[in-house]
Amino acid sequence: MNYHSTRDIQQTATTRKAVEHGLAMDGGLFVPEKIELLPSSFWNNLQDMTYPEIAWTVMHPFFCEGLSHSSFQRIIDRVCTIPIPLSEYEDRTIVELFHGPTMAFKDIGATWMAALLGEYQQEADQDLHVLVATSGDTGGAVAAAFYQIEGIRVTILYPQNRVSLFQEQQMAGLGGNIRAIAVDGTFDDCQSLVKTAFQDQDLRRCLRMTSANSINIARWIPQCLPYIEAIRQSRIHQEPCTFVVPCGNLGNLSAGLLAQALGLPVSNWVASSNANDCFVRYLQNGIWSPKPTVHTLASAMDVGLPNNMERIHYLNGSTWNHSKDRIKGLSVSDKEIASTILQVFQQYGLKIDPHTATAWYALDKVVHHVGARPMIMGTAHSSKFDETIHSILGLPHYKAAEIKYAANKRKTMMNDFAWFKEMLLSEP
Ligand SMILES: *Cc1c(COP(=O)(O)O)cnc(C)c1O
Repeated sequence: MNYHSTRDIQQTATTRKAVEHGLAMDGGLFVPEKIELLPSSFWNNLQDMTYPEIAWTVMHPFFCEGLSHSSFQRIIDRVCTIPIPLSEYEDRTIVELFHGPTMAFKDIGATWMAALLGEYQQEADQDLHVLVATSGDTGGAVAAAFYQIEGIRVTILYPQNRVSLFQEQQMAGLGGNIRAIAVDGTFDDCQSLVKTAFQDQDLRRCLRMTSANSINIARWIPQCLPYIEAIRQSRIHQEPCTFVVPCGNLGNLSAGLLAQALGLPVSNWVASSNANDCFVRYLQNGIWSPKPTVHTLASAMDVGLPNNMERIHYLNGSTWNHSKDRIKGLSVSDKEIASTILQVFQQYGLKIDPHTATAWYALDKVVHHVGARPMIMGTAHSSKFDETIHSILGLPHYKAAEIKYAANKRKTMMNDFAWFKEMLLSEP
């Protein structure tokens, strides 16, 4: 399969080039050149398939290029070690995307990408540098997925003091081929440092670099699998369902729209955001006006300028009308997140994390009439955000001793591209 830029269909790349470059040369995001409906026999027989069979069938056209049958099977085996169970609560289902190594949904895409690049590296003679900007969860997921993969070095930039100590531990605690650096700035600053690095001629000449952000097709495309797996398990495929998705950089939601383009039966999409409401405002008024990122309880969704909007435009044919008819959006304040966490705990004895809480709240507010059972994409395990949740619930919180360790090992840097470039060149 070839890919082309969201900005120019003439800017094409093979699968491998698209994965290794991350971003198209014109700064656009890669999208598949062909998105075809999976045959109706696939959708009709979903219930008789296993998750690995689904993963194979759906992903093979996108990623098979240049890989042997056994290489591809190794990738499938690795990604399918992360189970995706459903849990039921009266009128709704939670799709639990948080059973990977770092207990957040980004593990699914990161594991796929690491397995894929690991297979590519088998025949490479130069190390590959993976550069990542993260608001918290991506970094941990990428660190866990790439740890000890031969021939790959990972550099993670995250905003200083904007991630939890637990997240910092997951990124900075591994060492080895994983380097994590706290930047004196926001997530958007981290992201622009990484973007600038990819466009820098000297760096491009000296290093083989790739991005592991959700913009990379190797992370983005596999994120459509959980939607299909959820439909298989819920056995409600006769009736189109509603998916409620907590949104930040819009990777998860746009992967869901990709699954729909492959034939996933969906009647409604609900996009929940935190106070960073750029996409939600766009759905309301058709105006795209990013604002600076604000810090919220759902910190992994603190994105002022969601990159994957270009893919949503592409998949929705660029029209606002089409987007606003398909997707309902709601921005959820910290106060509403906290009251939702409290209410769900009181009602079900269930702890939900602040990101999933935005979706829970949005479902109550936005969807008045839904045909089939609504499915909430549960993006993180509550224990990742124990500190926040326990203070909302008034429960005691115990800090794990080893967390101090990551804080001690913290590497920091100014929000300065020249410095970042120098570091990449001098200590690759
Ligand atoms: C990254 C993340 C999100 C947002 O996903 P996007 O693909 O960036 O929209 C939501 N919840 C959690 C827990 C996350 O880590």
